[in-house]
Formats: sequence, C-alpha cells, structure tokens
Amino acid sequence: MGDQRKGLADVERVLGTVGEAHSDAPILIVTAGIHGNEPAGVHALRRVFAELAQHRVPMQGRFVALSGNRTGLTRGVRFVDEDLNRVWSAARIDELRRGDTRADDSEQREQREILAVLERELHVPRRSITHLDLHSTSGVGPPFTVIAGPDSSRDAANALGVTLLLGLESIIEGTLIEYLGSLGYTTVLIEGGQNDAAATIDHHESAVWLMLVQSGVVREADVPRFAELKERLLRGAEGLPSELEIAYCHRLEPEEQFRMLPGYSNFDPVVEGQLLARSGPHLEHEVRAPWTGTLLMPRYQGQGLDGFFLGRGTQRAG
Ligand SMILES: [Zn+2]
Repeated sequence: MGDQRKGLADVERVLGTVGEAHSDAPILIVTAGIHGNEPAGVHALRRVFAELAQHRVPMQGRFVALSGNRTGLTRGVRFVDEDLNRVWSAARIDELRRGDTRADDSEQREQREILAVLERELHVPRRSITHLDLHSTSGVGPPFTVIAGPDSSRDAANALGVTLLLGLESIIEGTLIEYLGSLGYTTVLIEGGQNDAAATIDHHESAVWLMLVQSGVVREADVPRFAELKERLLRGAEGLPSELEIAYCHRLEPEEQFRMLPGYSNFDPVVEGQLLARSGPHLEHEVRAPWTGTLLMPRYQGQGLDGFFLGRGTQRAG
C-alpha cells in the first residue's frame, strides 16, 4: 500500500492565546491534534484566531489553544510510540512526574509540555474552566461528541447540537477529557468528521466558536456569523439522535492484523452476525457484529487498538 501521509510543516505548542488571564474570568482551553493524523483542528483554530483578531472580538475571558502530538502532526501519523489519548490516567501522570525526562518516549515528551501549559493556565482558581478536544476519524461520518467529568460537560456538549455518545468513558481509559473531567472541569471531545475532509475543519471551526460562547468567553452577539456557524455544524449531524449509548469495543491485540470491510461509516446500522472486518496473520478470521446496533469509529487506519465500537440500538429504529 502506498504511504500517502502528509504532515503539517510547523506546529507550535501554543496555537494561540487571547484575553486576560485574571482568575474571575472564564477560560476555554482547546486542544487539537492529540492524534497526529488529525490536523483539522489545528487548521480550524488558526482560522478562529485570525477572525478574532480581524474582527477585534471583545473577550469576556481567556481563550487558549494548544496542539497535541506535534511530532505526530509533523509526520502525519496518529502517534510515534504510544497513543497520546490513552496516557492520562492518574497513575500514568504520577509516573511521568516522577520519571526521568531522558527516558521519555515521544508521547511522554508531548504530554510533559501539554501538562506544563495546562498548569501555567490553571494554577489560579477560576470561576469557570471549559475544555474542548478536537478529533477526527479515519472513517467517513457525521460529527459527534463524547464527554467526561461534571454534569456541566453534558450541557456544553448539547450546546454543540450533534449526537452525544455516552458510555465510551467506561470503555476507553486514559483520555485527556477523562483527566480534565476528573479535576472537575467541563470537558467535551468532538469528532468532527473524516481526518482530511474539508468539512471537518468547518465543523471544528463552528464547534470552537460555539464553545467560546457556551463557556462565557465570547458573547454570542460578538461572534461574526454565529447563526451560520451553528447551522453548519447542525447540518453535519442531521437526522441523528441527540444521544447514543456505546456498549461495545472490538479491541485488537498489539500487532494484530485487522481490516474493516470497505464502505463502513460512522452511525451505520448493523445487524447481529454481520461481517464487519477480517483479522489474523492472513486476515483469515471473520469479525462479525455481536449484536444489532450502530457502528461507530470503524478503524480504517493502520494504528490504534480499537477496531470499532457499537452503540445500543440504531438511530433509525426510533
Ligand atoms: Zn483522535
């Protein structure tokens, strides 16, 4: 197979900061490219910062954006040594803090830098802290959200108007939103669409503006084209339920060969026993749906140990 990876030329750790840092103002922190093969969030954030400057949008709080896996983004790969969105458990962070920096793998170096920025921004007690994590998927599909932490995360996700996936947090451990949620912060992850699709950048751009408003950092009336931005994200998720419960992950062994059958998309309804993928050294094993439900995040990339997820029920069953 040809390797068509294309990385971003130069990705700075802090993609932008605007607004004052005093403690009684709300703060929105946005992360992009935690997975290096998901550059759309970085492009979207560059657009938002350019517009904030161009329109001199008045800030009611602080807005900070940072890149995730810089090396991965430069190389156009999901990660170098390990998945940067699986290393945020309390135990792993504790281990990192006690560990010798010279022994860091590529993602641990990234994680140290991200932690340093977060600590710099959050060391003062704040009235309101909101985090948005921008992701995209290898398969085609509409945008959706995942949350962690306090009830306010659910409200924030619902403000984006796309399907909220519940139950993923008990299947996937060590995510960045899980960590920030455990600290009590409002935190939402959005999957904006396919990794390199132009619409994914649009969805992320809309999500950042909506979250600037939801977090209280920018007034809705001060957002250029607010209704249009909101409509654009809603249109991407048309006809889907507002919430969906995820109850199954097809987990792969390290080095396991795995190939989805072509043509599956996020939110495809599947029936029990339906052939979804092949696995094994010669792809000789059939992987079938364990029950009737909704397919999510089918893995069409070479990296990562999550083959696919299944939601209970299908959106068309009502
Ligand atoms: Zn991702």
